[in-house]
Amino acid sequence: MKLEKYSFGIGDRFAQQGEAQLKAIIKAKEIGIEIVPVWNKSNREHEIIRSSPADTRAEADKAVRALNWNDDYHVDADHINLNTVDAFIEHSDFFTLDVADYIGSEVSEQEIEKFLALASGYEGLLKIPGIEKPFQVSKDDLVGIAKNFLGAVREAAAIFNHIADQKGVNNFIAEVSMDEVENPQTPVELFFILLMIQQYGIPAQTIAPKFTGRFNKGVDYVGNVEQFTKEFEQDLLVIDFAVKTFGLPDNLKLSVHSGSDKFTIYPIMGKLIQKYDKGIHVKTAGTTWLEEIIGLAMAGKRALKMAKAIYASAYERQDELCGPYATVIDIDPANLPTPEAVDQWDGEKFANTLRHIPGHPEYHAGFRQLIHVGYKVAAELEGEYLKMLGEHKDIVGEQVMINIFERHIQRLF
Ligand SMILES: [Zn+2]
Repeated sequence: MKLEKYSFGIGDRFAQQGEAQLKAIIKAKEIGIEIVPVWNKSNREHEIIRSSPADTRAEADKAVRALNWNDDYHVDADHINLNTVDAFIEHSDFFTLDVADYIGSEVSEQEIEKFLALASGYEGLLKIPGIEKPFQVSKDDLVGIAKNFLGAVREAAAIFNHIADQKGVNNFIAEVSMDEVENPQTPVELFFILLMIQQYGIPAQTIAPKFTGRFNKGVDYVGNVEQFTKEFEQDLLVIDFAVKTFGLPDNLKLSVHSGSDKFTIYPIMGKLIQKYDKGIHVKTAGTTWLEEIIGLAMAGKRALKMAKAIYASAYERQDELCGPYATVIDIDPANLPTPEAVDQWDGEKFANTLRHIPGHPEYHAGFRQLIHVGYKVAAELEGEYLKMLGEHKDIVGEQVMINIFERHIQRLF
């Protein structure tokens, strides 16, 4: 199973917007941009919503059938590890092997020696074609990189083999992810991580490193854009060289766990992948749920009332809701509108405050991020929330489609 050049990860917390999401991908195809949709959902999301991997598969299959989509599509078991993978094996064909927690875990002297034997040829001046200045790599650097990342890649191999035993090696796509950490991996580290991936025999088709800067949920990139640009370009070149040198799968590409809405860097990424004719996988997350709330806010009195109630509850429960997402949100509680203030808003004001239009005078990033993590509140409404979505399917679906097509795909490609 081979992942195409451009793929786009779409999350859908409540599994109601599969068709609206696919419509955006179809619209892209109509203007000549071929993208493979990948429905992704993590174990954490499933637990909070109380849904199961079978639901994501059913949603994807249903959307594809309804819209006669005849191209590839996948269902991603997002951020799984050995403890959580089993529930996904039957229903997914894309697995994001999250080994961030294993960075720095212990490895034996023999394993380090084995890696050093492979890596020692790159000691000294490491020249990557396309990167002007060669990198200096010392023996100490190599030992440091081994101690940091060997345990993580070994764990990725263990998860990969566990899945392969049940599904067969060629029947799924494997991604190795190390993005949910504090420190970004440098292009040099990425090069040697790819060597380890080859050493442990993982036919990874995508790799998700941690990039410079903050990738907060549902809001724009925060960080040094120049540094990101340089790093992203070097990563593309490193992967190209590693594929040719180590014999990794020739479609191996970067996976950017964007957290959605990285509007500042989307055009930069788009330009660079075109410059080098490279593929990309971009994961978005959770913004479809925000479009649902935007749609409801615009759908009349009762629906707006529900949207306001969800905000009010999220406002009261900030600590509980923000806790699990602490590393990927930045909310200043003092700056949030109070539920009493929000109660006075009309639907348009609510939608404009939530909708991410950079520079819009009513857009409020804190408000948006709080609702982003507030999906648990809607999950607790259970049928009531889903019923409201069903009643306003058209207006909600339109928000979802426009968001993915106009704000994401058009900026990226
Ligand atoms: Zn991630």
